[in-house]
Amino acid sequence: MTTDETRTGHRYVYEFAEGGKDQKDLLGGKGANLAEMTNLGLPVPPGFTISTEACRHYLEHGEEPPGLAREVDEHLARLERERGMRLGDGDDPLLVSVRSGAKFSMPGMMDTVLDIGLTDASVGGLARITRNERFAWDSYRRLIQMFGATVLGVDSARFDDAFEEAKRNAGADSDIDLDVHDLCALTGTYKQIVRSQTGRDFPQDPREQLVMAIRAVFESWNTDRARVYRRQERIPHTLGTAVNVMAMVYGNLGDDSGTGVAFTRDPATGKQGVYGDYLQFAQGEDVVAGIRNPVPLQDLERIDPGSYSELMEIMATLERHYRDLCDIEFTIERGKLWMLQTRVGKRTAAAAFRMAVQLLDDGLIDVAEALRRVTGDQLAQLMFPSFDRHPDAKPIASGVPASPGAAVGTAVFDSRAAEAATGPVILVRRETNPDDLPGIIAAAGVLTSRGGKTSHAAVVARGMGKTCVVGTDGLDIDYGQRQFTAPGGVVVAEGEVVSIDGTTGAVYAEEIPVVDSPVVEYFEGHLDPESPDADSVVAAVARMITYADERRRLGVHANADTPDDAARARRFGADGIGLCRTEHMFLGERRRHIESLVLADSHEARDKALAELLPLQIGDFVGLFAAMDGLPVTIRLLDPPLHEFLPDLTDLSVRVALAEQRGGADEGDLELLDAVRRHHEQNPMLGLRGVRLGLVVPGLVMMQVRAVAEAAAARIRAGDDPRPEIMVPLIGGAEEFELMREEIERVLADVAEASGVDVRAKIGTMIELPRAALTAGRIAETAEFFSFGTNDLTQTAWGFSRDDVEGSFFPAYLDKGIFPVSPFQSLDEEGVGRLVAIAVEEGRSARPGLTIGICGEHGGDPDSVHFFDGLGLDYVSCSPFRVPVARLEAGRASVLGEEGGGDSR
Ligand code: PEP
Ligand code: MG
Repeated sequence: MTTDETRTGHRYVYEFAEGGKDQKDLLGGKGANLAEMTNLGLPVPPGFTISTEACRHYLEHGEEPPGLAREVDEHLARLERERGMRLGDGDDPLLVSVRSGAKFSMPGMMDTVLDIGLTDASVGGLARITRNERFAWDSYRRLIQMFGATVLGVDSARFDDAFEEAKRNAGADSDIDLDVHDLCALTGTYKQIVRSQTGRDFPQDPREQLVMAIRAVFESWNTDRARVYRRQERIPHTLGTAVNVMAMVYGNLGDDSGTGVAFTRDPATGKQGVYGDYLQFAQGEDVVAGIRNPVPLQDLERIDPGSYSELMEIMATLERHYRDLCDIEFTIERGKLWMLQTRVGKRTAAAAFRMAVQLLDDGLIDVAEALRRVTGDQLAQLMFPSFDRHPDAKPIASGVPASPGAAVGTAVFDSRAAEAATGPVILVRRETNPDDLPGIIAAAGVLTSRGGKTSHAAVVARGMGKTCVVGTDGLDIDYGQRQFTAPGGVVVAEGEVVSIDGTTGAVYAEEIPVVDSPVVEYFEGHLDPESPDADSVVAAVARMITYADERRRLGVHANADTPDDAARARRFGADGIGLCRTEHMFLGERRRHIESLVLADSHEARDKALAELLPLQIGDFVGLFAAMDGLPVTIRLLDPPLHEFLPDLTDLSVRVALAEQRGGADEGDLELLDAVRRHHEQNPMLGLRGVRLGLVVPGLVMMQVRAVAEAAAARIRAGDDPRPEIMVPLIGGAEEFELMREEIERVLADVAEASGVDVRAKIGTMIELPRAALTAGRIAETAEFFSFGTNDLTQTAWGFSRDDVEGSFFPAYLDKGIFPVSPFQSLDEEGVGRLVAIAVEEGRSARPGLTIGICGEHGGDPDSVHFFDGLGLDYVSCSPFRVPVARLEAGRASVLGEEGGGDSR
């Protein structure tokens, strides 16, 4: 510890050699992995990391923490001693890079500044020491450009324009064609731009450059694009970023130098091999920025065999050490290889599953670890449909398949158009940069003409699970005309349909039909994962889901209301139906029965309407019980207010008014209007619905109970084993439930006696109002099971109208960081979760062994599944299509729980 650290007892700066890969919270992902590589003895340029704590302090207080400046000085001095050079020295300058690095990688969201330390005084020294004047001036102009844009906030287009002009004046095609005089002149122009745009000169004090760059990294945490990205990726805004300061190594010294990116396996398929791009005579982001076309990494073997074989060895070491796919960035400086970054690489969903089983079979990881390596979101992606490759469909172009899937949409050429469109769109760009992020989020797919598998578009789209095709050679994109021309001459204008195939790279100027994914075919039982026809990803999914089932403690039920849905849910592995929303059985043609019931003015009329509904309902339940024979089927009694089955008040009022103008309204319409007015409520979600409806208008729900009992009796007589469970919605307290329960038991007993069949049904309730959660102990005295309706519970705990808020003010709430994701999508653990926890605890103390499930939308959300597992629920219930996702996540929750929590991301 240094003197200052000893005095304050706290430190913010760590040498690379001091950290390790598990310290991402403190050092950020980049810093932690640089430390790991340093300690593995790999060639990492020396440097140090300023912790995320320092950033958090800066963001909170608007200034660096006390002592940080002194710590940076001390670590810089050490770096200078180690390199035998001084920062920005006039004879032999040490230059450093300053890079951000948060806990979770945020590709391209925050900026990097290279070559810090160059000034008018040191540029000559750099030229002399490297014997390369051109290189020195190229580095200086790069510094002013990056520093100007990132630190001083100058519009980067100013530099780009000046650069293009310099190329034009020199008759140069590319950056490497500019000579030392051009670059020297360009540096002068850049300095003028800085002066005119900021009112100050480009700083000539190297130490000042460093301090300003570090601060800029702290501040870049809160740029709009970084906030948008974090929201999309559910990364908390509170983490802050670390800052890595590293001695510069130079890829732009000449043809014997360069920079590259690589993966230890193919991130799209998981296959082992050499995957990456290399660009000679280049520095930093050049390789992914599309300034010149990089060559495939294999070519490095010819260009620089020594560095190539060292790189291959390092990649093998990294993969063995991390036991996972790694991606890396490296630079070669005059034939010497330097590692600038590594991390466990992003991958497609298919690659994640394939790799998990490959590494398991290679003995590098165990089953629990394999389960940690795949996620429900990835499985959901694999269940997306793909193109039906009709032999007549001719691609108009072909690019690099960067992120799989099939996307069809109209072409748009910028983010604004993507966001404004009402239907699905394909964002078409030459290449993307972080400013295109809103467009990528809004689009169904991304198509670019430049870049490889490691380009910005590819990395971001893969991370989001969006279909993406990049590097589509010959695609001539004209932003001005808002159209592109394919190599064969086909022109596609904005608004015209394109289809892109992220698995093959094919681009079509027509709408291609899509087919089910093979993974879905497997779940449907149409594809044997062992058969030679099955893709290896299907086999991998089949194995992983089996492991998950063996490990999971949570049951997975489905929300299904039709025999077809029930049957699919069963094929997809559901252990029962957790929620049958019976209101879905009263739509269409059957509405009129409810209408008659509402309009009935006598017992006879009401009984007639109910008698017409009864056989229909019996048929519904017979179908469900047959499809789910032997498994629980939880039938919820009618929940929505009756007016939902009646015509809309405004429509009907207009119809009646118009009829009256024409001479007289229909008698039936007048009666109906009267009934609609009577049932009208200002806040129907808080009105006569759920259990209240059952208590106040009992005939309808008791008809449902009778239908359940008669359907069960019929299935028992047919030799089946129906397991009905009757669920009362929206109760606020025990008294409501008790009254309903008595009625339900009476009807069940009635049917048992009349049919002579011993019909049994569990009787339980939904917990979806805060008062029910808070009085759960009393309710459990009479309820045989609980099922959390987390949709209504979220609505009533927050006081958010679930039908309105997501489209109205949630974007602003998300932006302000009030929550990182909609609480209707992922459970609000702190508030709604606490209500759930209280109800679980009180319910189980009143009735040990009480069965508890959850049937709100959160039942299919991975994070929420983990939360419910932690609370000891018996099952989650979700839509049939999400059932495999919930099975996988339930298995993962068990192994992550065994590990004692951990990061499931
Ligand atoms: C719920 O409220 O969570 C629930 C499952 O019921 P519904 O969405 O039908 O109100
Ligand atoms: Mg509800």
